[in-house]
Amino acid sequence: MRNLRKHLMEGGKVQAGFIQAYQAAARRALLLDYDGTLVPFVVDPGQARPDPELLELLAALTAPVGNEVSIVSGRPRRDLDEWFGSLPVGLVAEHGVWLRPKGGDWRMLRVLTTEWKVRVRPILQVYVDRLPGALLEEKEFSLAWHYRRADPEQASRRARELLDALAGLTRNIDMQVLEGNKVLEVRNTGVSKGSAATEWLGGLAAEFILAIGDDWTDEDLFRALPPSAYTVRVGLADTVAQYYLSNHTAVRRVLRELSQSAPDRGMSPAPGPPHPNLPAARSSAI
Ligand SMILES: [Mg+2]
Repeated sequence: MRNLRKHLMEGGKVQAGFIQAYQAAARRALLLDYDGTLVPFVVDPGQARPDPELLELLAALTAPVGNEVSIVSGRPRRDLDEWFGSLPVGLVAEHGVWLRPKGGDWRMLRVLTTEWKVRVRPILQVYVDRLPGALLEEKEFSLAWHYRRADPEQASRRARELLDALAGLTRNIDMQVLEGNKVLEVRNTGVSKGSAATEWLGGLAAEFILAIGDDWTDEDLFRALPPSAYTVRVGLADTVAQYYLSNHTAVRRVLRELSQSAPDRGMSPAPGPPHPNLPAARSSAI
């Protein structure tokens, strides 16, 4: 883990070098986590719909020629389809199980099984029953135990117990337990945001890569990217990312600034010949 992370904003302004790198690149890839990165956390994961401002911001980011945007999320396909299906963006669902390239169809990146759910679901259900406010979320290839609504002290005790209970089970089957933000998620091994990102970036030949995320699962994403990529961790935590931003509001400010800085190539019109009636010395001063 690197400790010398830099803030991507200095004195309330986005670092100039970052904007310049974005502008200078002909092809730019932006990989954005959703919950905790583009929107704040909410008590009920079903109530985290993107607001109109965010949808407009994402649309603006996809507008310049050479820009490719992907939402890289732990959410199920149906949420991402419903919220972002009409935008020209790539989508990664369930932490890398599924990839939907821009304008394409969903495909699974790895053949996975779900037989393990029969064994894991009852254990999670016990911990839902034992902790008021906890809830079980079933995704196609994972099961998640959420405890954001529960009493924090009681929740952290139950979370440790549940981790112990699952450890014995996952040792013998092809499963792993992810510790996210107020959530424990059980899923197949070998799936990660990093492998999905590598797949998505494969055909893009991007010169500028930006990845932003706020939790443990995003570390896989940061690790999978080339050293030249801009990796940004949201919040204060140990990370392999090069930069940090304090919260989703800061993330939106950075993205807004990118959307407003027309890249050198792509959006900007080609420079035309100097105006015939304007002296050369005058035109250079404009
Ligand atoms: Mg997140």
